[in-house]
Amino acid sequence: MTTHCAAVIPAPHQAIEIREFPSPELQPGAALLRTLFSEVCGTDVHLWHGKLAGVPYPLIPGHVSIGAVAALRTPLRDIAGQPVREGDVVTFLDVHETCHTCWYCLVGKQSTRCPHRKVYGITYGADDGLLGGWSEAIWLKPGLKLVPIPAGLDPETFIGGGCGLTTALHAVDLAQLQLDESVVVLGAGPVGQSVTALASLSGAGEIITIGGPDDRLEFARRMGATTVIGLEPSPEERAGTVRGATGGRGADVVIEASGAPEAVIQALEMVRDGGRVVVVGQYTDHGTVPLNPHLQINRKHATIRGCWGSDFSHFHRAVAIAARHGGRFPWRELAARRYALADADVALLAVERREVVKAVIAVHPSVAPAPASR
Ligand SMILES: [Zn+2]
Ligand SMILES: [Zn+2]
Repeated sequence: MTTHCAAVIPAPHQAIEIREFPSPELQPGAALLRTLFSEVCGTDVHLWHGKLAGVPYPLIPGHVSIGAVAALRTPLRDIAGQPVREGDVVTFLDVHETCHTCWYCLVGKQSTRCPHRKVYGITYGADDGLLGGWSEAIWLKPGLKLVPIPAGLDPETFIGGGCGLTTALHAVDLAQLQLDESVVVLGAGPVGQSVTALASLSGAGEIITIGGPDDRLEFARRMGATTVIGLEPSPEERAGTVRGATGGRGADVVIEASGAPEAVIQALEMVRDGGRVVVVGQYTDHGTVPLNPHLQINRKHATIRGCWGSDFSHFHRAVAIAARHGGRFPWRELAARRYALADADVALLAVERREVVKAVIAVHPSVAPAPASR
C-alpha cells in the first residue's frame, strides 16, 4: 500500500507529529496532487493555539498549496475548459463544498458564509484524509476548483502571496477604491503587505501603511506604500500624521489588516467623513473595544464593511495578478524562508515568533520547474 507522510497538529498546543497516511482511493472527478509548496501563515498559528471554532483535530494544516498532478481517475478540466493532465502544476481554492443551493449562496449572495463550506487544512481533519498541504500528497476531492499555474509564474511568487493576497484582493474589492484616493493600511503582515500592493495597482494616491517592525515597513515601501508609520507614536499621533498627509480630512479608505480589536477604532479615527473602512484583520476573536457610535460612525457618515475569507473569483484573479505583477511586487520574498516537511514545527514557530512574515513548506521543490526554464 502506498503511503504519504504529513505533518499533523494532534490537538491545540500539542507538538507537531509526522504521520503516515494511506494514498486515497480516487473516485471519479478526484485527483492526487504531489505537493510542491504549502504555506504557513498566521491562521496556522491560530489553529495550533486552538483559536478557531469548528476545527476537527487531529489536523493536517496547509490551506494554500501548489503541486503537480500525480494521478487522475477521470479526465479533468479547468474552468476555461482546458484539460488538466498528469504533471501539470496547479493550485486550488481551499474552500470546498460551497453548496450554491442555500439561502446565503443564492439569495444573500454571500458564498463565504455558506454553512456547508469545508476548508482544506482548517475544517477538514486528518481523519477525513489527506486534505491539508503539509503533506507529501493532497487528495483533490471531486468538485475542487483547480487553477493551473500559468507559464511564467514562479510557484514561489504565488505561494509567497498565498492566502494573504487572495484575502487582500477581497478587501480591496470591498473598499471600492477610486483612482487617486488615499488609503491607510493598518497592519504590515501578509494581508497588509498585499493590500498595500493592490492599492498601488488600483491607482491609489497616498498609501500609508502602519505597523511593525521596521523591516516589514521597509518591505511595505517596496509594495507601494508612500508613507510608513511604526507603532511607537501613540494612536493619536498616528492619526495626526494621517490627517497631515490627507489635507486634514483623514483617509478616503482605511483597511484594517492587523488583528488588533483597537485597530478598528483607530481606523474610524483615521477615515475621513463619508469614507470607507474595511475590517479584514479580525479573523479570530480577540475581544471587544469601546466605540462612540455618534462620533465615530453616525455623524461621521462612515461606511464599515466586514470581510470574511475569499471565494473562487478572488482566488482565480489572485493567480492572474501574481503572474502579471509578480515582477513588480516582491511577493516571492514574503515567504523567503523554506522549510522541509519534517521541519514544519520549526516553520510554525518562526511564524508564531514573527521571525518571518510567512513560511513555506517546500515538500518536493525539485519537481517545480525553475522559473528561467519556463
Ligand atoms: Zn451554500
Ligand atoms: Zn493562510
